[in-house]
Amino acid sequence: MSRRQWFRRSGAAAAGLALAPQLAGAATPLSAPPRVANGPIRLSSNENPYGPSAAARKAMQAAFEESWKYPYAGAASDFIDLIAEREGVTPEHVILGGGSSEILHATGLAYGLHGGELLAAAPTYEGMPRYAGKVAAYTHRVPLNDALEHDLEAMEGRITQAVKLVFVCNPNNPTGTIVDAAALRDFVTTASRKAVIFVDEAYIELTDDPAANTMVDLVRKDHNVIVSRTMSKIYGMAGLRVGYALARPDLADRVKTYGMAGPNVVGLRGAIASLQDDAFREHSLSQMRKGRHLIYDLCKEKGRQHADSQTNFVFFHTGMPIRDFQEAMYDEGIMVGRAFPPYLDWARVSIGTDDNMAAFATAFRKVMS
Ligand code: PLP
Repeated sequence: MSRRQWFRRSGAAAAGLALAPQLAGAATPLSAPPRVANGPIRLSSNENPYGPSAAARKAMQAAFEESWKYPYAGAASDFIDLIAEREGVTPEHVILGGGSSEILHATGLAYGLHGGELLAAAPTYEGMPRYAGKVAAYTHRVPLNDALEHDLEAMEGRITQAVKLVFVCNPNNPTGTIVDAAALRDFVTTASRKAVIFVDEAYIELTDDPAANTMVDLVRKDHNVIVSRTMSKIYGMAGLRVGYALARPDLADRVKTYGMAGPNVVGLRGAIASLQDDAFREHSLSQMRKGRHLIYDLCKEKGRQHADSQTNFVFFHTGMPIRDFQEAMYDEGIMVGRAFPPYLDWARVSIGTDDNMAAFATAFRKVMS
């Protein structure tokens, strides 16, 4: 792919370009992934370069022995049972996906087909609205508030009879912001009487208080709510494609109808090991927090505003068109996130390894000077 093509796709993989040397990831006792020797540093897709954990890698190697079998012969039900136990729901509440993307797509079809309309913030994660758009489902948009958070009051006022599903990304991508847990709980409780509320919790484990921030208690209370999660972020397994969601069994069945592939045995065994690896999760969390603060400090140094992130990325004001910032950073060997209208002079940068972040700091200072 040419440099030009990468910018056109903006955010897609650009492996093999070798514009600048990739710095080696710092080895840790928990994960010592050998990093790609060359190619730009990927701070563009909110991946976690520390994963998969050593325990997950070991479990995945062992899983080759059972990979002649279909996932439903054991790995899928073991994963579902583990999730059900951890979340205090029944296995019938659990939906599996090839990444949470499959669940976002399936849900977009389940509620967007036959004239169903969706409601979502702008900007937010586009996986579901974009996919539902392919079956001509219209998504109503509600701008974020001044703190770049979901404007729940405005969203509630926009739910009409035609709106079948409300998408809430919490924390939100691309801003990294989280809404107050009590306010969201009130919103979901009330609004779910009018439409299904889908809460995308891809980054929930990276928040300061995941237990308070999750809406899974409303699933347990039989509300009209679907909560999705992924193994791609804090667990660093984006390439293995394992995601899941939790919902009342009738909602779960409706979404499952539209599923297409689901995860594979190797990914599922890695996910089972990862979920039980508290040390690795803590390690990832502390690295991501450290990275957030490094970017905050750089923003402060250059007098730039940033959103308060509870994720593994930071959204900040560059003061230049995002395309110019992307290109200048790319020339320094760093890939950053794409444009997120209407914030066309803001950038989203994912947290990488310590070495990646040191390289980012050098490039940032040069580009922003
Ligand atoms: N939801 C959000 C908010 C995301 O940011 C992403 C990926 O970046 C996804 C879902 C999809 O992740 P995956 O399909 O890897 O689970």
